[in-house]
Amino acid sequence: MTSNGQQENLRSIPSVDAVLRDARIGALAGELSLATVTNLVREATDGARLAVLSGSSSPGTEELISHVLERAQRATANWPRRVINATGVVLHTNLGRAPMSAAAIEAAGLAAAGYSDLEFDLDSGKRGSRNSRISQVIADVTGAEAGIAVNNNASAVLLALSAIAEGEEVIVSRGEAVEIGGGFRIPDVMRRSGATLVEVGTTNRTYARDYGAAVTANTAAILKVHPSNFSVQGFTHEPELAELVAVGREHDIPVLNDLGSGSLIDTRRFGLQREPTVQDSVTDGAAITMFSGDKLLGGPQAGIICGNRELVDRISKHPLARAVRLDKMALAALTATLLSYLKDTAEADIPIWRMISAPDDEIGKRAARWREAAGTGEVKSERSTVGGGSLPGETLPTSVLAISGGARSESLAAKLRSAEPPVIARIREDELLLDPRTVLPEEDELVISALKAMTADDGSDT
Ligand SMILES: *Cc1c(COP(=O)(O)O)cnc(C)c1O
Repeated sequence: MTSNGQQENLRSIPSVDAVLRDARIGALAGELSLATVTNLVREATDGARLAVLSGSSSPGTEELISHVLERAQRATANWPRRVINATGVVLHTNLGRAPMSAAAIEAAGLAAAGYSDLEFDLDSGKRGSRNSRISQVIADVTGAEAGIAVNNNASAVLLALSAIAEGEEVIVSRGEAVEIGGGFRIPDVMRRSGATLVEVGTTNRTYARDYGAAVTANTAAILKVHPSNFSVQGFTHEPELAELVAVGREHDIPVLNDLGSGSLIDTRRFGLQREPTVQDSVTDGAAITMFSGDKLLGGPQAGIICGNRELVDRISKHPLARAVRLDKMALAALTATLLSYLKDTAEADIPIWRMISAPDDEIGKRAARWREAAGTGEVKSERSTVGGGSLPGETLPTSVLAISGGARSESLAAKLRSAEPPVIARIREDELLLDPRTVLPEEDELVISALKAMTADDGSDT
């Protein structure tokens, strides 16, 4: 039931046609199709009608038009927007994990812009395979016999389990039947793959002999999962990969190793704990090793599977492989990224390694320049984190610009986020922290102008 006042209000909502006749709305037609503009106007008038029916007064024509203009502006904005990561978390999942190398960006751009020999053999002039080159590059870099790259490491694990263990059993330590994040849980993935999870040991202690005792005629594989995002302290034990490989050999079953981050570089070189390397996994005898493309590899989102040729072939031929295959841009970027490791230029080429290896005194100088520009705050010793499901709890000494904003910290952070491009800082106990480690040096001027705008703005507010 609508009251008379409401009827009146409903009648006063301008019609779609009337709004479309407005010159400012007409001008939108230069940017958006007429159908889109009409939809936006209809959305606004429908919204007004609902608002009136729920008791609000009718928005005037001006209000409706500015609503449509605002909505049109948001509708045409590109996404994702570039942001500057001043949080000090190198692999920030919410900010898109690893920034890529110049070579990877160029390769992806070329693959996108034109045609390529993606599935074409230039020697024979016949159809080629999209797997053969990437398999060779993965093999060259990791020391494995063969490889395949898929959509991400989550799909790599699902695919490998489906191809190798569907309808059979896979043995996993209780301490490793974990959730990686974003709903990726080993027991659930196992179920999806059609394999049966056989848990052994206890949450804190599992021994190689526990795996041996769980082997049946139905066992297809042993799965080892790297605890990427947590660490267990105290009375704990997990067998080394090599011990599991020995158990596997005894019973003739393969060991699959989900490394998660999968570094190709020994992280101890940077004063960090050792993240198990892909090469070690291959040398220690994992039949299959799986890792992400955009964690410590520093490339595009991808899942890399490497190992025993016969098993990699089986995985490549599984129907799911087609469903989780990588697109040409990611394949191009991944190849370029892997080639940096092959040429031993990864530390210079790949942004995450430049960030991780940046010396603290250089970072300190940049923080001091930022402090100069901001005219406020102080340079403090702090810790950067690697993040992104690698090296849990591991930090690197760094220097940050710390601005104690008190209750205003949140609004100062919001001002930095409203810069172009937005600058993302860390807030800790009423302090705003900006860490140069995760800001590319060529972005320094952008941070400086954002800081200047923030302090100018802050001054005019108070
Ligand atoms: C991050 C991670 C995954 C998932 O990898 P994505 O590339 O994010 O899909 C799987 N397993 C482990 C151990 C991980 O750390």
